[in-house]
Amino acid sequence: MGSSSVLLFSTAIRRLEGKVSLITGGASGIGESTARLFAKHGAKVIIADIQDDFGHSVTKDINDSSSACASYVHCDVTKEEDVENAVNTAISKYGRLDIMFNNAGITGVNKTNILDLNKSEFDQVINVNLAGAFLGTKHASRVMIPACRGGSIITTASVSGCVAGLASHAYTASKHAVVGLTRSTAVELGGYGIRVNCVSPYVVATPLAKKFYELDDEGMSRFYSNANLKGATLEPQDVAEAALYLASDESKYMSGHNLVVDGGFTMKERRVAPKSEPRSA
Ligand code: NAD
Repeated sequence: MGSSSVLLFSTAIRRLEGKVSLITGGASGIGESTARLFAKHGAKVIIADIQDDFGHSVTKDINDSSSACASYVHCDVTKEEDVENAVNTAISKYGRLDIMFNNAGITGVNKTNILDLNKSEFDQVINVNLAGAFLGTKHASRVMIPACRGGSIITTASVSGCVAGLASHAYTASKHAVVGLTRSTAVELGGYGIRVNCVSPYVVATPLAKKFYELDDEGMSRFYSNANLKGATLEPQDVAEAALYLASDESKYMSGHNLVVDGGFTMKERRVAPKSEPRSA
């Protein structure tokens, strides 16, 4: 292969060249994987998280391993001033924000009984998962609208935003709500050429899922024996690839979409068979 073909090839595969991205929850799991992938595709990446040590080390690793440009900002997505500051960091460093990935999330306590769930436990999950995505969408719009360059806002929802009974009421409600937030803001922001979408993964073996289910990697693999799609395991990188698609111009006419990455899990009827046939009237 000649040098001009190599150049052509390497340019072609950098799907986010010149774009500036902000990734909340970028210090771990799906967010970390996405930060690495976006950087590989030429985006400037700002990781925003509350785990400062992990955030700094992922940033350093990205910068050490390539010609990529990554930085870290402390940001608690439940605090509007933090989210405002993270977005302003993108503007002061690079003069623009093209991609906002609202990915920070928590599961909250593993309680399935509503009578056991405290209001403060419910609020905590809603504050991070829903209000955090609202603040990210709001402040990204604040800078994307006047820039008149469009933009892509992506939120990590979940299969728990499509079906119920997999997680706590708070988590399920928060993930259904971010799908609604995505659709509602896509309607408004489409008027400015800004696309708003979400990505909804099935179970991925990240620190969040392992802690919630109290399982190690081997234990997590059991989810895949019960999954709809056999012979494959969902990894953070797969969700990052879906986010990359929504962030890139390849999805330029997609907005208000919930990109479900679940191997068909939510398509499968999971009705419990009745013990006996119902009596005919
Ligand atoms: P993770 O715990 O590896 O990463 C979540 C990150 O969010 C962490 O770095 C954490 O510090 C950060 N975070 C938490 N609270 C925050 C706050 N208030 N402000 C800023 N950052 C905060 O977990 P993950 O599985 O990669 O989760 C990423 C997203 O994916 C979440 O929204 C989660 O709900 C969603 N999700 C995960 C799964 C799964 O099975 N892992 C499935 C569906 C959806």
